[in-house]
Amino acid sequence: MKATFERGLNALREQIDAPVASFFNSCVHCGICADACLFYQETGDPQYTPIHKLELMRRLWSQEFTLFGKLGGMLGLNKPLTDDDFTKWETLVYDSCTMCGRCTLSCPVGNDITSMIRKMREGMSASGHAPKELIGAAKRHCELGSPMGNMLPALQAQVRHSVEQTGIECHCDKEDAEYLVILSAQEVAEFPDILVAYAKIFKQAGIDWTISSEAFEATNVGLQMGNSDVARECVLTIANVAEKIGVKYVISPECGHAYQALRWEGPNLIGRPYKFEVIHIMELLDKLRAEGRLKTKGTNSEKITFHDPCQLNRRGGIHNEPRNLLNMFADNFIETDNAGAYNWCCGGGGGVGANERAEELRGKAFGRKKAQLEKVQPEKVTTMCAYCHHIMEDELDKNEMYDIEVQSITELVAEYLDES
Ligand code: SF4
Ligand code: SF4
Repeated sequence: MKATFERGLNALREQIDAPVASFFNSCVHCGICADACLFYQETGDPQYTPIHKLELMRRLWSQEFTLFGKLGGMLGLNKPLTDDDFTKWETLVYDSCTMCGRCTLSCPVGNDITSMIRKMREGMSASGHAPKELIGAAKRHCELGSPMGNMLPALQAQVRHSVEQTGIECHCDKEDAEYLVILSAQEVAEFPDILVAYAKIFKQAGIDWTISSEAFEATNVGLQMGNSDVARECVLTIANVAEKIGVKYVISPECGHAYQALRWEGPNLIGRPYKFEVIHIMELLDKLRAEGRLKTKGTNSEKITFHDPCQLNRRGGIHNEPRNLLNMFADNFIETDNAGAYNWCCGGGGGVGANERAEELRGKAFGRKKAQLEKVQPEKVTTMCAYCHHIMEDELDKNEMYDIEVQSITELVAEYLDES
């Protein structure tokens, strides 16, 4: 136990760098980040103030990296971190943070609280203080190659389903393809029609694509848990296959954290640039629309709104693309309050949705999303992240909001495809 704690403490110490020191130094204790956080907003509990979630890292930095802290240590005034501290902070760092980035965007001095939570998780997981579900998912990734245990037969079943539905050949393990399709674990497990939509749209647009039996899953549990070794392995599996085939593009699927991992953290994690580009499915579809290669027909007059996944809009910059696509056929599209960069999280990101212990708190945090939806009362909410889709369906059911349907935007576009 002591050795594990020491390992975690060392891992946390290694995360303290110049940006972290600068962030702690520049915090003016204004509390604005509290109002930005869905967990604080829905509970009013001060322990959920974002900057407080980093208190262990702040104490370690203060004690070991500042002059006053070092003097305090010599005089025996410091309170060293203990395993009990780690136990207490585990729930703050994993159960009450979806790494949504809203606090970072709101902080007046530009403190990137979200990236510091990510760093703090490195220390927590190294000390054994991570939710058991994330530890299990990381183990499955290492042993089976899939965090959710989605094995090749699951992909093969989905491919068969797509071929049966569309009559379009699904190009598995095609050599020299231009685009590599990867799927989120949630899509493989729960949303088989996504591949149907891809097949139809790509046929119309003349996209040369393949899906690989060696690397078909985009989920990156290492990023959620805070284990860079596992995160690196997840990225490398995809990068190696993409480079072996020689694709020009890897299509990042409807998944928030997968895009964060592959597009923004990937090259740093593996220590080299890719030999391909990462393009999100929304970016690709919008590009095809702009080039006249994606055509729809008919209109949808349902009251439709859109949920911006945190990792794709606020932290990923994808804003106009889904709206451009919806504008092709949605006659009655309506934005929620705070849509876009300040959108409220669904409450399940950053591993919170997989963490059974956090279920009640997650339900409370969904209150922000619920209020947005209640105000516009849509018939349908579309989104570009399969995990947001999963969480919103679950929470809307729990809140007996059965009148609102949740749908993947890619699947919706495919429904209005002009196949004539
Ligand atoms: S908003 Fe920024 S400056 Fe204000 S308390 Fe939070 S981290 Fe500190
Ligand atoms: S990243 Fe989101 S959930 Fe986490 S502390 Fe900041 S606002 Fe709260």
